[in-house]
Amino acid sequence: MDKSRRKFLSTAAAATATATMMATTGHTSDRLGHNPDEMFSVLVDSTACIGCRKCEYACNKTHELADHPPAYFEDQTQLQLGRRPQHDAFTVVNAYEDKGAKEGEAYVKVQCMHCNDPACVSACLVGALTKESHGPVMYDTWKCMGCRYCLVACPFQIPAYEYHDVLTPRVRKCTFCTERLHEGKKPACVEICPNEALVFGTRKEMLDIAYGRISANPQRYQDHVYGEYEIGGTSWLYLARADFQTAGLPLLDNQSPAEITENIQHGLFKSFLPPLALYGLLGLIMHTSGQREKSEESTDA
Ligand code: SF4
Ligand code: SF4
Ligand code: SF4
Repeated sequence: MDKSRRKFLSTAAAATATATMMATTGHTSDRLGHNPDEMFSVLVDSTACIGCRKCEYACNKTHELADHPPAYFEDQTQLQLGRRPQHDAFTVVNAYEDKGAKEGEAYVKVQCMHCNDPACVSACLVGALTKESHGPVMYDTWKCMGCRYCLVACPFQIPAYEYHDVLTPRVRKCTFCTERLHEGKKPACVEICPNEALVFGTRKEMLDIAYGRISANPQRYQDHVYGEYEIGGTSWLYLARADFQTAGLPLLDNQSPAEITENIQHGLFKSFLPPLALYGLLGLIMHTSGQREKSEESTDA
């Protein structure tokens, strides 16, 4: 990176940090006006997951995703590949090391976490992603302009994009089986799970079940429900015996990224520094540092 660009980026970072400091007031815990206790939720108990991949199969069939033969979903070697959800696979199950488990490994299902205060929703400039009051983070193809900011914003790296589709690419991710929820059914993956590794209900019920399992069997679990507080809380919650990062769940702050970025924006407005003025300021800094760079170079020469 050349010197002027490095200077610009460091000055821009300082300007952003200042904006963040200006924006420390106005915090509310229920920013979206929803009641997380009453939202739909799924508890993923990775100590109960047997790695059968039936949830992957049910999701694939329900949403008519990749055209795999049934044998594909019985192939246990797929568990070892550290897969991520894709545009044609809304959920995957991966193995991870768990010394307390039989065979020394456990399994974890991965999909959209349906965050309480989602970064993808905050990043989307056109309202194509929304957090519904009953839990799901929903996507509207018609509003989407394909900017892919949501892909960058998601702390779990979940939204996938149909890069192969030149004419009508969509962002794709777990829908929480919202059509099934409207029909009074459980998500397809939960319904098929044979070992109660997936449990469905309200978020309050899932937290009660999670802490009930922990207190009934403290050797089996970390004393922590992942997703209760991380990034402002998520609708999908996890239990594990090994630490959650070993299971592939990222270490995150409790404050939601959406709240941080919106605080920056509000701080800028509160301080009579609208974004256009900030961009102007950053442009001026870049221009000035470029000029200084040139004059330093001509002095050196
Ligand atoms: S790609 Fe679509 S859904 Fe994602 S942020 Fe851009 S407009 Fe919103
Ligand atoms: S909730 Fe529905 S869309 Fe999401 S992983 Fe389960 S089956 Fe797939
Ligand atoms: S269906 Fe249940 S037990 Fe089977 S892989 Fe999925 S979460 Fe695990």
